[in-house]
Amino acid sequence: MQPSETNWAGNLAYRAGAMARPSSREELLAALAGEGELRVVGSRHSFNTITDTAGTLVSAEDLPAGIEIAADRRSVGLGGGVRYGDLAVELARHGLALANLASLPHISVAGAIATGTHGSGDRLGSLATSVRALTFLAPDGAERTYRRGDEDFAGAVVHLGALGVVVRVELDVEPAYQVVQTVFESLDWATVVENFDAVTGCGTSVSLFTSWGGTGGVDQIWVKDRADAPAGNAAAVLAGLGARPADGPRHPLPGGDTRASTEQLGLPGLWSERLPHFRLAFTPSSGDELQSEYFLPREAARAAIARVQALGPRLAPLVQVSELRTVRADDLWLSPAYGQDVVAFHFTWRPDQPAVEALLPELEAALGEGVRAHWGKLWQLDPASVAGGYERWDDFVALQRRHDPQGRFVNDFLRRLGL
Ligand SMILES: Cc1cc2nc3c(=O)[nH]c(=O)nc-3n(C[C@H](O)[C@H](O)[C@H](O)COP(=O)(O)OP(=O)(O)OC[C@H]3O[C@@H](n4cnc5c(N)ncnc54)[C@H](O)[C@@H]3O)c2cc1C
Repeated sequence: MQPSETNWAGNLAYRAGAMARPSSREELLAALAGEGELRVVGSRHSFNTITDTAGTLVSAEDLPAGIEIAADRRSVGLGGGVRYGDLAVELARHGLALANLASLPHISVAGAIATGTHGSGDRLGSLATSVRALTFLAPDGAERTYRRGDEDFAGAVVHLGALGVVVRVELDVEPAYQVVQTVFESLDWATVVENFDAVTGCGTSVSLFTSWGGTGGVDQIWVKDRADAPAGNAAAVLAGLGARPADGPRHPLPGGDTRASTEQLGLPGLWSERLPHFRLAFTPSSGDELQSEYFLPREAARAAIARVQALGPRLAPLVQVSELRTVRADDLWLSPAYGQDVVAFHFTWRPDQPAVEALLPELEAALGEGVRAHWGKLWQLDPASVAGGYERWDDFVALQRRHDPQGRFVNDFLRRLGL
């Protein structure tokens, strides 16, 4: 291992004694041989220890990309290390698209799916809901494929890296479409809470950015609307509530470099150049940061907004920016949107981990009962309550044991959760 083997944020130096970088199936099998603990590392964008191990890290980065469009043009197959940004280029060449993207195209598809990564949209599920099939290489070298409709498919999709190496992913695709992105400014919280459905439903994908202080409301509302099927009349709805369109391009972070942001100002463009907030060629977000994110059932979110707002003075010294998004319910056992439409409360923190971790319990208490945490970000919830928040947790544990009876892919993060 090089001393530089850290996660993207640099807040975690991987403890692994070795890093394998297989670029073929033979090399991957060789990396799995033996007995020690293993974890796969994707594009390293997780903030907590989910990816870490004291054993060997197997990098998915050099695995064959193998991007193949199905003959019926309804799905695409790809290898376990491909990033969304690279997949999007290939799909665009074929006039195809995905249903949604996260805030950045830099993350690996397999790593994003593993943690239930999401974008926004009242009618859009997390990125994992586009998965048609996943193929794992288990530690014993056996391949296991789960197709939508198979028993245990819904358990295997959001898998926390616990089922082996994802060597193949198949995703739903659709004909390419155009998206229009417009940023609006300044809505007070009372208006947002009172008109929550109208605000989050005024575009295909809506993100609310706030610092929980300052103007005391939502500073920016990013609306991404499909040109072929607009979700709502954002300009009229938001103007009616008192927001105004931004007079130039914006970055979600106050003072951030707007060249890093995707095109705004209502200019139509390809789905892949509007759905993420950040462009592939630039550092996303601030780059010098930590992140946390929590999910609440949609009906609990309005009351939680008021409680988090009351915590504003405590949050202010550490928050760079906070974002509220919505995610449609799904049936994936470990998805934070399992069984319920959710509102995601995201926090980009200043990079002071001890101070952030000291504050998280207060924030988690303010968010209230039934809160679920993003699997790849920082949280301080009681691990037993995290596992207990998922109805199918015990079924997942049983699935993991069938896959990996020796627990070679179980690290400290998962052991704390009871795996
Ligand atoms: C700037 C920034 C912006 C972000 N924006 C969003 C956002 O908009 N929405 C959101 O929900 N999250 C967001 N995230 C979080 C991020 O999407 C997740 O942490 C995601 O898991 C990152 O994937 P990765 O491959 O980079 O992570 P890694 O830490 O490398 O891997 C994450 C997990 O996937 C497993 N894994 C990776 N590849 C494989 C494989 N081939 N086989 C088996 N297991 C594998 C790892 O073992 C680990 O458990 C953001 C993170 C950053 C840094």
